Amino acid sequence: MSKIEKTKCLIIGSGPAGYTAAIYTSRANLSPVLYEGIQPGGQLTTTSDIENFPGYPEGINGTAMMNDFRKQAVRFSADIRPGIATACDLSQKPYKVTIDGEKIIETDALIICTGATAKYLGLPDETKYNGLGVSACAVCDGFFYRKKVVAVVGGGDSACEEALYLAGLASKVFLIVRKNYLRASQIMQDRVLNHPKIEVLFNTNTLGLFGEGGVEGAHLVKFQGENNEEKFDIAIDGFFLAIGHKPNSEVFKHFLKLDEQGYIKTIPGTTKTNISGVFAAGDVADPNYQQAITAAGRGCMAAIEAERYLNNL
Ligand SMILES: Cc1cc2nc3c(=O)[nH]c(=O)nc-3n(C[C@H](O)[C@H](O)[C@H](O)COP(=O)(O)OP(=O)(O)OC[C@H]3O[C@@H](n4cnc5c(N)ncnc54)[C@H](O)[C@@H]3O)c2cc1C
Repeated sequence: MSKIEKTKCLIIGSGPAGYTAAIYTSRANLSPVLYEGIQPGGQLTTTSDIENFPGYPEGINGTAMMNDFRKQAVRFSADIRPGIATACDLSQKPYKVTIDGEKIIETDALIICTGATAKYLGLPDETKYNGLGVSACAVCDGFFYRKKVVAVVGGGDSACEEALYLAGLASKVFLIVRKNYLRASQIMQDRVLNHPKIEVLFNTNTLGLFGEGGVEGAHLVKFQGENNEEKFDIAIDGFFLAIGHKPNSEVFKHFLKLDEQGYIKTIPGTTKTNISGVFAAGDVADPNYQQAITAAGRGCMAAIEAERYLNNL
């Protein structure tokens, strides 16, 4: 291991949470250092139009919006660097985070904003139609499918929630469920099964998507691999994945308390983790909302809490 560098406030991640934390901590004179990770700008750089972030009445391209966040942080002299946190030692102060396996940053306060990654089925068509009818976020993209036909993949609570949300906008929602039952809570199952706009396709898998320049339908199979296997197509305009997210908490898991899905646990109403001086903000600590505005809000909270923590040291 080569160099060791000391900083007061280290931020890991460059999505809405990380950049917002950088704006607030740099304006509070904490001279934050931020590592951007493998996806500078975070998840929003993988999408086109953001229509629900306040302040952009005409909507804005996701990458352009994150460039604005970055510029604002740089304006206040946040030290933004390329690099991935590959290991950490939070057993004693100052906390140590290894960057790219070769450099150690010692820090008094650490703000973790590493986000979460939506799970996909792994079909080549999901990549082909990404942004052209494939989405992993009904709240983000549902509005584009008003009065259209969509499919949601998944059988748990979040799939039922997404299906119900979309049923409020779309003309019809197919819920594609691999098993012959829903894993969701009874109340969610009842709502979905009794909803006039939702049709649940049990025992069904997706083989692929089709369409000229955008999703126009899905190739499905019922009872895959069994004697009564049946292939069929449905006509849809949008294909929504609701099979869960993977929080990017791996590097910190030996020190921080995580929930059963791997989200970093924070003290309710705060971004404080089980280790004083270590804060977690945005999707990595939020299984519920996972929106840019909530991530930015949490980034702000983490920065204010980090500042108070450092003042009290
Ligand atoms: C296709 C798509 C469309 C969406 N559309 C909308 C929308 O319209 N409106 C909306 O509000 N939300 C939308 N969302 C959700 C929104 O993108 C997320 O809620 C938000 O980006 C979460 O912000 P975050 O800062 O927590 O993390 P992310 O944006 O996930 O950023 C995580 C950051 O952490 C970095 N990182 C991860 N691991 C490491 C590591 N080990 N070391 C260093 N850095 C690391 C990554 O490089 C990245 O910069 C969409 C999401 C997707 C995928």
